[in-house]
Amino acid sequence: MTDIDTLIANTIREDVRAGHIYNVPDASGYIKLDAMENPYELPEHLRQELATRLAEAVLNRYPVASYTTLKQKICANLGVPQSYDVILGNGSDEIISIIATATARQDKRAVLMAPSPAFVMFQRSAQFAGMDYVGVPLKADFSLDRAAMLAAIEKHKPAVVFLAYPNNPTGNLYDEADMVAIIEALGDTGIAVVDEAYQPFARTSFMERLPQYPNLMVMRTLSKLGLAGIRLGYLAAAPALLQQFDKVRPPYNVNVLTQVAAEFALDHIDVLNEQAAQLNQARGELASALAALPGVTVFPSSANFITLRVPDAERTCAKLFAERVLIKNLSKMHELLANCIRVTVSTPEENSVFLNALKASL
Ligand SMILES: *Cc1c(COP(=O)(O)O)cnc(C)c1O
Repeated sequence: MTDIDTLIANTIREDVRAGHIYNVPDASGYIKLDAMENPYELPEHLRQELATRLAEAVLNRYPVASYTTLKQKICANLGVPQSYDVILGNGSDEIISIIATATARQDKRAVLMAPSPAFVMFQRSAQFAGMDYVGVPLKADFSLDRAAMLAAIEKHKPAVVFLAYPNNPTGNLYDEADMVAIIEALGDTGIAVVDEAYQPFARTSFMERLPQYPNLMVMRTLSKLGLAGIRLGYLAAAPALLQQFDKVRPPYNVNVLTQVAAEFALDHIDVLNEQAAQLNQARGELASALAALPGVTVFPSSANFITLRVPDAERTCAKLFAERVLIKNLSKMHELLANCIRVTVSTPEENSVFLNALKASL
C-alpha cells in the first residue's frame, strides 16, 4: 500500500514541500491592475489577419527548433547589435530559470544576486536550481547602493547578478554609472543580466552596450508590450556565451502559435509602440493626480506601473478590492516597501476608477 504523505516525504525536496504555489488571484469581474498588462488589444482588422495566419500554423508538427525567422525579426526590429544573437523563452520567466540552471554548478554552491526588492522570480529560480540567493538592499529612494553591491560582489563572487532596468516592483531606472560599475566589477567571474521587461516604456536600454561587455546579457519580453498571453521572452548576448544557455533550453520551448503570433506582432510593432506611448502619457497624468493627494508619495516610474506609498496600504487595498479593482500590496515584500502599493497604468477610464477608489480610501 502506498501512503501518499510518505511518498511525498520520500521523494519531494524539503524546500519544495515547505514552499507555496505562486499565487495568482482570480480576476474575473475585477479591473485588473496588478500584473502590468497592456489594457489594449490589437485592432480588429489585425486580429482578423492574425486569425488567418494562426489557422495556417502547422499544429501536427513540432516547431522548427531553430526559430530562425522569429529570431531574425527580433534582432532586426528590436535593436540587437550586429553579430549578436538571441535565444527564446516561454516568457522571460523561463529564461531566468534557464540562466539559473546553467550557472548552478555542482562542485560548489553558486550565488545568484540581485538588488532587493527585486522581481520575485530571480529568487525562486535560484532556489529551485540549487543556488544561494543574495539580495542587496536598495537605498530608501530605490536607487542602487553601489558600495554595498560592490562589497557583496567581492564577498560572494556571484555567478550571476540580475538588474531589472527599470526595476519591478519599484519602477525606477538605476543610475547607468552604477550599473556599469557592477558589470565591470563582475569582469570574467560573473554574468550581469539586465532585465529589460519594461523597455518599451523606458525607451532606454543596455542592448547597444553588449559589444562593450562580454559578460553582459540583455533579457526582454513581449509580455508588457501587449502580448502577455503568448509567453515570449528573449535573451541577447555574445554568441559564444548564449550557446551555453541554449544547451539547457528545452528544444521546443516556444510553441508554433506563439511563434506565428510573435512574428505577426513584430510586423506590426508600430501599433504596439503606439499603445506604449499612450500608456506613457497616461502614466504621467496618473502620477500627477496621485502626487496631488494628501499623504501619498509617488515614486518615479519608467515602466507601465506606478509604485506609491499611502498612509495605510491594507486599508487602501481593501477599499479597492471592494470597488472591484485589483492592485498589488507591496507592504510585506520588503521593509523599504512599507505601505507601498503598485498599480498598472491602464486606459483613462480604468485609471480614473482606480483614482477615485484610492481617494475614497484615504
Ligand atoms: C513581468 C516581468 C518579467 C516576466 O516576464 P514574462 O516574459 O511574462 O515571463 C521579467 N522580469 C521583470 C522585471 C518583470 O516585471
